[in-house]
Amino acid sequence: MRVHVIETGRVQIKASQIVGQGRGLRRRLAPLSDTQWSDWLPVNAYLIEHRDGVILVDAGASAGLKRLPRWHPYFRLCVRFEIEPEEEVGPQLRALGVAAGDVRRVVLTHLHIDHDGGLGHFPNSEISVSPGELRRASGLAGRLRGFLPERWPKAFAPKPLLLDDGPYGPFPQSKRLTADGAIVAVATPGHTPNHLSVIVEDGDRAAFIAGDASYNEAAMLAGAIDGVSDNEPQATATLAAIRAFAASRPTIYLPAHDPDSAQRLAERRPVCVGQSITACAAASRDAAVAMAFGERMSASSGKAQSEIKVMSRKSFE
Ligand SMILES: [Zn+2]
Repeated sequence: MRVHVIETGRVQIKASQIVGQGRGLRRRLAPLSDTQWSDWLPVNAYLIEHRDGVILVDAGASAGLKRLPRWHPYFRLCVRFEIEPEEEVGPQLRALGVAAGDVRRVVLTHLHIDHDGGLGHFPNSEISVSPGELRRASGLAGRLRGFLPERWPKAFAPKPLLLDDGPYGPFPQSKRLTADGAIVAVATPGHTPNHLSVIVEDGDRAAFIAGDASYNEAAMLAGAIDGVSDNEPQATATLAAIRAFAASRPTIYLPAHDPDSAQRLAERRPVCVGQSITACAAASRDAAVAMAFGERMSASSGKAQSEIKVMSRKSFE
């Protein structure tokens, strides 16, 4: 089984959207007046090759996002995209040798505009969306909330993804997406109330495809909620659940907009949390220790990589 990162252009948002400032409504309005823009951040979708077929998690941005409705203050003041048509997910998959028809299923973490933008490339794939997310994103109320339902493909008829398989680790709701149970959708509410993430089990490791559960790994580790979530206790509980999961097994954390996601995936570098936190702290205090730790990490990730190669051969034989 293999996971690929597909960068569909870049986005700039406000610093106070990445890590919320203040509380409640003030936190959610802060990006409108914030003058501090982020760096250009990737807009990642993730492709999972599995023996049951190819699964795409999120459809990324589209070149159409360079033109956004001016009437909406968020679109006018808080977000900028940089993406050419050939950077959309469809052309990039073709370059990887994957035809749109090979994508059995597209699972959307949520319906924000840079996650559903590339849906038009997959007219024949099953599109899986949380029914609650679809309700919140539809119609005029959805447009007011900052979704773009008017840009969904005409034939957009997603299948409701019900997380009705019971708890999975620290996550109270989940759904196994493959017959072998190795790919699991889990509820990660916060950024949106019905946001979900996708966990890919690979032996004793896992990749955690996080959507916008947090904008980066540091925010998740710090339990710092973003400037978007409308339920602070819920968002805080989700970040705590992700940390608990990452402490339970080596977990590569892959949010959609973390500039380090691609590098972590390439190196199979897990989150530093729980048991290993003392080692991480020691490493950052002492350069010599840090170097030794780095060597151990790369040695162990080398081993993991060869295990993954064996697994992927098994998967496709
Ligand atoms: Zn989002």
